[in-house]
Amino acid sequence: MAAYATCSIEFDPMTTVENSSSALPTHALPSYLQADHLGPWGNYLQQIDRVTPYLGGLARWVETLKRPKRILVVDVPIELDNGTIAHFEGYRVQHNLSRGPGKGGVRFHEDVTLSEVMALSAWMSVKNAAVNVPYGGAKGGIRVDPGKLSRGELERLTRRYTSEIGLLIGPSKDIPAPDVNTNGQVMAWMMDTYSMNVGATATGVVTGKPVDLGGSLGRVEATGRGVFTVGVEAAKLIGLPIDGARIAVQGFGNVGRIAGRLFAEAGAKVVAVQDHTGTIVNHSGFDVPALLEHVNSTGGVSGFSSGEALSSADFWSVECEILIPAALENQITKANAGGIKARLVIEGANGPTTTDADDILNDNGVLVLPDVIANAGGVTVSYFEWVQDFSSFFWSEDEINARLVRIMQEAFAGVWQVAREHKVSLRTATFIVACQRILHAREMRGLYP
Ligand code: GLU
Repeated sequence: MAAYATCSIEFDPMTTVENSSSALPTHALPSYLQADHLGPWGNYLQQIDRVTPYLGGLARWVETLKRPKRILVVDVPIELDNGTIAHFEGYRVQHNLSRGPGKGGVRFHEDVTLSEVMALSAWMSVKNAAVNVPYGGAKGGIRVDPGKLSRGELERLTRRYTSEIGLLIGPSKDIPAPDVNTNGQVMAWMMDTYSMNVGATATGVVTGKPVDLGGSLGRVEATGRGVFTVGVEAAKLIGLPIDGARIAVQGFGNVGRIAGRLFAEAGAKVVAVQDHTGTIVNHSGFDVPALLEHVNSTGGVSGFSSGEALSSADFWSVECEILIPAALENQITKANAGGIKARLVIEGANGPTTTDADDILNDNGVLVLPDVIANAGGVTVSYFEWVQDFSSFFWSEDEINARLVRIMQEAFAGVWQVAREHKVSLRTATFIVACQRILHAREMRGLYP
């Protein structure tokens, strides 16, 4: 990803026309939008190319999906505790707003680039449409290693970033949420900063807030619960019993640990876990609550007493039935896809599988539950949180979980049906359902002026 760090972004001043069959010229995509820029955005464009033949008349609008609607790059200067001034690069990308306000998380990571945030924003458009929540897609991020900042520095960084992107965000404009390395506290600072700037407490400007500040019960667990829910549905359809199934999880943050815990509670065995501190394996299955305690006290899975260490490359070929990549993009590649033994891959992360790897898995009969449906539980409960904030009426956790499970099951059943009808992968099927919804909204709204 470092190969296309985006400090100097060349914006193409040329305008384009939506329908390339007209007599007017369609200018080539600017270089930073092209698929041969390998990485998440290139991966996303390949996914759009695959869905295009299934869009019928709506295909005339498909160019919309290849260009983010709006990109904001901001300088985020803060004073460090030692008195020096540090500058960080921040982004907010609104990929598509046809179906509603922008919605998507904010990532703090040292590898964040504009290209990555663009792809993540586009996957939010697809994901939100796939589960039919009334949002467009957006994403934000700052290129920073938050582990190197004090709490005060992190707060100043978050507040300055929020002010800088204040042009774009708002409860009915674009609603950020947690993503990699951001959490309820970061959302509380964002909500407070936005509220101070507009002169009124605006809880609905972000989701994933602490429950005492207008957050929703069940939001922290929602992504992992959604991963578990679609995993159980898919396992039923392929005749794979969850009881006794062996699970390998990459990433033991908010998504991986909740999904792992729920599968273990349903009788599965978590046999391998990889995070930034290392890879551990235990063929008879980990004691997941004990592993969670170890991670909470030491900061990672490495050194957990009942596990053996494994090389990070060997993680991918561990004997298991279910593999859950729940970390970052581009983890399952053509280098490791062929060795994967699982029958089911459930993408807890966004963009963990490259297109080449997707094809290898498909050829090998491995069923991939794509990110744009598998990890949509988080944004689904974000939607519930936003609705609760608007109405100032809060629901019980049971009600939230029941609604979440219903939405995930219905969305998954719909996608499964489309995959069978067209004989395509679940990824392409999800894109068919979602892109039709987005482009239908686009067509009905029409172009302005
Ligand atoms: N960051 C999460 C995702 O990638 C949640 C986004 C949201 O709740 O808006 O889906």
